[in-house]
Amino acid sequence: MSQDAQVIVVGAGPAGSTAATYLARAGVDVLLLEKTTFPREKVCGDGLTPRGVKQLIDLGIDTSRDAGWVHSRGLRILTGELTLELDWPELTSYPPYGVARTRQDFDDLLARTAVKAGARLQERTTVTGAITDERTGRVVGVEAKTGEDKRPVSYRAPLVLACDGVSARLALSAGIEKNEKRPMGVAVRRYYRSPRHDDEFIEGHLELWDRSDPRRPKLLPGYGWAFPLGDGTVNVGLGMLSTSAAFRNTDYRALLRTWLDSTPAEWGYREENAVGRIGGAGLPMGFNRTPHYRAGLLLLGDAGGMVSPFNGEGISAAMESAQLAAEHVVQALARPEGPSRERALSGYPRALAELMGGYYRLGNLFAKAIGKPAVMRAATKYGLRVNALIPLVYKGLSGCYDASGGDGVDRLISLLAKATPSA
Ligand SMILES: Cc1cc2nc3c(=O)[nH]c(=O)nc-3n(C[C@H](O)[C@H](O)[C@H](O)COP(=O)(O)OP(=O)(O)OC[C@H]3O[C@@H](n4cnc5c(N)ncnc54)[C@H](O)[C@@H]3O)c2cc1C
Repeated sequence: MSQDAQVIVVGAGPAGSTAATYLARAGVDVLLLEKTTFPREKVCGDGLTPRGVKQLIDLGIDTSRDAGWVHSRGLRILTGELTLELDWPELTSYPPYGVARTRQDFDDLLARTAVKAGARLQERTTVTGAITDERTGRVVGVEAKTGEDKRPVSYRAPLVLACDGVSARLALSAGIEKNEKRPMGVAVRRYYRSPRHDDEFIEGHLELWDRSDPRRPKLLPGYGWAFPLGDGTVNVGLGMLSTSAAFRNTDYRALLRTWLDSTPAEWGYREENAVGRIGGAGLPMGFNRTPHYRAGLLLLGDAGGMVSPFNGEGISAAMESAQLAAEHVVQALARPEGPSRERALSGYPRALAELMGGYYRLGNLFAKAIGKPAVMRAATKYGLRVNALIPLVYKGLSGCYDASGGDGVDRLISLLAKATPSA
């Protein structure tokens, strides 16, 4: 059967562009299909912890300030009563700094890296579904609409990577549904001109307060962030978990305005300093779409539900899954079609489970627990005051720990992750 590429990658976000880069560098003929044209906006917090920075370094991307990255030295945690400033931990696995960059720039840079490596990027091409071989049930290509005139086209390849984000249209077309028992998140964000744009810390607001009536401050549902972008603006947003009672009946845009109107005026998070509109999207968490490999189709990043239930970070997991997928696909393509190739591909979901499965199972429990306001309140009120607990909370929430070796806290997180049973 004729083929258009050895591998088709659907979606040129962090998962797709990273996978395409590694594959092309290994000499694989990759067709990277993307529905938009670069540079384009993507609603996000624009922040990477050191775990994400490692992925950029692995790709050979210069993450220095001179190359346009804003560095963070750590995380400032704020509750109604408490502010903690914590430097990123010193680890074997990850660098001691985080970065921020608008997704407008970030995704463009990653897509250009893939093209430079030899991937064939085709923009303005919306994939509408998988082509499945009726006889074998294998995914052997994709149907798409391309160009200004949305011309129907089809492309064939022995392997297809679904990197199309939270919509997961490709996986759905192949019958891979999401697991409703796993947590989901919703998040909204906006850019504000602010004197805090060059703050060295990124911020996590564990409590959002409405102080419009100073006599009766009201605790709002959800968690907030502020990620300085160094260009005069800060990316400010909030998110909520599906485990929270308010999840379904909240006007998220109104919630963001209410919260920000109660933050100190000198921070600048006010309507008159806003740049652009409020954008929002869903966060598919804790492996909410599996299997990550079936019959010629691999799921990566958000398409495979890989956002961390601990902190809503999804870029690092998207890139980690891309690294693993590329490694297994390269090995698979070097084998004859049939059982031997399938064996190589079956290593991908196993490697993913090994890397983040236990940590995400633990995260799913965490998401369930903090969905209850009383648990969350107790955790912020008392937990963060116990000095001995702070490194555990910090490393656990950020995903920045050494999975092998490391100190006692790192070993405890790994142990808890391994011991958490599947739900
Ligand atoms: C408000 C908000 C804030 C967030 N903040 C952060 C943060 O600060 N840090 C962090 O790490 N994560 C954050 N996340 C999560 C993060 O944005 C995602 O986890 C990450 O983008 C996943 O990467 P991906 O490559 O899997 O998918 P995406 O980035 O969604 O990329 C998918 C790509 O596929 C393309 N595409 C989609 N459908 C098709 C189709 N049918 N055909 C062709 N192309 C298609 C899209 O145009 C896009 O380019 C946030 C999410 C939200 C909603």
